[in-house]
Amino acid sequence: MITRNNKNIEFSCEVFPPKRDDEMYDIFKTLDEIKDVDPDFVSVTYGAGGSNSKKTSTIAAYIQNISDMRSLAHMTAVGMTEQKLTEMLEELQKKSVDMILVLRGDRPRTMSEEDFAKREFKYASSIIPKIEEFGGFKLFGACYPEKHPESATVEDDIRYLKQKVDMGIDELITQMFFDNSKFYRFLEKCDAAGIKAPIHAGIMPITKVNQLGTSVSLSGSSVPTELSNLIAKYSEDPAGMKEAGIEYAIRQIEDLMDHGVYGIHLYSMNKADVTKAIYDAVNHK
Ligand code: FAD
Repeated sequence: MITRNNKNIEFSCEVFPPKRDDEMYDIFKTLDEIKDVDPDFVSVTYGAGGSNSKKTSTIAAYIQNISDMRSLAHMTAVGMTEQKLTEMLEELQKKSVDMILVLRGDRPRTMSEEDFAKREFKYASSIIPKIEEFGGFKLFGACYPEKHPESATVEDDIRYLKQKVDMGIDELITQMFFDNSKFYRFLEKCDAAGIKAPIHAGIMPITKVNQLGTSVSLSGSSVPTELSNLIAKYSEDPAGMKEAGIEYAIRQIEDLMDHGVYGIHLYSMNKADVTKAIYDAVNHK
């Protein structure tokens, strides 16, 4: 929880499982450090098409049972079968993980376009009824202030978002955005569409010059000139970039808090020091 002007705002962050098994220790160490800021929850990503799903549940269980924080396990519909879904829900339940971020997922590189088109569960919402039937989970969903890249318009996207929420999504987390005005416009549209689920703003601190090229270009999030100028300015100065990127995220979050945001979800890429620096800067009584 972040407290600002005596108002409480939810604070959470996201981690991703390491590729190699022998790197699991690093993520546990990161989580032990993240615990210092006492986040409302820590979410754990899920490999495209279900790769590494075991690591997602292991890390989520560590967060929930060893770190004594709340964990939110991501889960994608792509590559899912009814049987696999039941097994995964049983496993999460056994490990006392009771919050799921229900996602569609994108086509993994190992899946042909034909198989992707024939997938058993088409959308994130397609697996909601099964999870609801199983019972016992609080459900989160994804949303896109600048629309999902496959949607024709924000309005189309919001129509499907409303359906998804009505099917059982309790809270939403946005795709990363760097221009708060896009988020405020999106909130107005969600409100007009009758979407009542609380929305956590997804903020990614850009701490490396090449970060925009990878995760951000895939997300479809626009990059304001102020941020692209910073990246150009610090192209040869990694330490300067890290500091400027953290500073940019802090300013974004402070503005969101001043506008009454419900929650901040930090895409802090397994970096406990970045998470802590931002939390300490924005948390004022
Ligand atoms: P959906 O809600 O299913 O929407 C996908 C598209 O289909 C949208 O264009 C939507 O408007 C449209 N649509 C929805 N329902 C219908 C319908 N009934 N008829 C027609 N069109 C419809 N990916 C991973 O692989 N692993 C992760 O851990 C992961 N974590 C993420 C966390 C967050 C917070 C976010 C924002 C994204 C994450 N992603 C992750 C990426 C996500 O899987 C992709 O963005 C994916 O393309 C869409 O997922 P979704 O759940 O938003 O899809």
